Amino acid sequence: MKDRIYGGIETGGTKFVCGVGTAPDNIVKTQFATTSPDESIGKAIDFFKNNSDQEQLIAIGIASFGPVDLDKNSPTYGYITTTPKDSWSNISIVEKIRSQLSVPVVIDTDVNGAALGEQVWGAARGLDTFIYLTVGTGIGGGGIVNGGLMHGLLHPEMGHIRVPHDWEKDPYRGCCPFHGDCLEGLASGKAMELRWGQSPENLPAEHPAWELEAGYLASAINNFIYTISPQRIIVGGGLIKNPDLMPAVRQKVLESLNGYLHSEAITRDIDHYIVAPELGDLAGVIGALELAKRIRQGI
Ligand code: ZN
Repeated sequence: MKDRIYGGIETGGTKFVCGVGTAPDNIVKTQFATTSPDESIGKAIDFFKNNSDQEQLIAIGIASFGPVDLDKNSPTYGYITTTPKDSWSNISIVEKIRSQLSVPVVIDTDVNGAALGEQVWGAARGLDTFIYLTVGTGIGGGGIVNGGLMHGLLHPEMGHIRVPHDWEKDPYRGCCPFHGDCLEGLASGKAMELRWGQSPENLPAEHPAWELEAGYLASAINNFIYTISPQRIIVGGGLIKNPDLMPAVRQKVLESLNGYLHSEAITRDIDHYIVAPELGDLAGVIGALELAKRIRQGI
């Protein structure tokens, strides 16, 4: 009998990542650009059909951009709901995949998925309360509190919190279609590109864009530290590939906390408190795979 394997899908704002396997060192994966729902979901289904057979594939987990309906008692469970992404509103991603592959399918947010992957295999091993932020085209945050993935009325939307916006220093009005100058509206990759007229990867290290960016992210992290008291903060996403950004964020977080919290994890060891994901860009798809494993374990 062939070994059991699981499927994971990370649906991101710009790309889909799909994987089948059991662990980071035992996974076959692919990725492609996020286009229309039919095309992208169709490609994912084809990938699983081509890389597994029915008796092997036990379940599929999806770590999705949102907002997503995660209430299993809701008639729209597994739907992507009010997303600003063109044509993806009210898409029943869970049902589309379940009906084609005939296996159980579970969904959570992309950031909760990545958090789970980091807890099992990466930078959050041994922790029970931590957050995972992604700072890329958009900004999102999720994580685990007291051992459980963060859910609630809906699920956290940490990218849409309010952060101080000094209009004199930064006259850009923000790009969030719902809120204008929320965190995502001011500090996402999309906001950087619209504010400065060039893509963040083309902005040189000395450009004032980066100090502004570090300030917004530090304000947000300051708020998350005070509200959730995380044991660690993992920051992933495309923008942290600038090697100067994380040190600047750490410094500004220390300035913003201003000695109020007496934890050596923060005051003496902030380099290990605000960290990059150990699974790198694979955190989401590995986490999705872990979500799939948990359906069968009944968790
Ligand atoms: Zn917003």
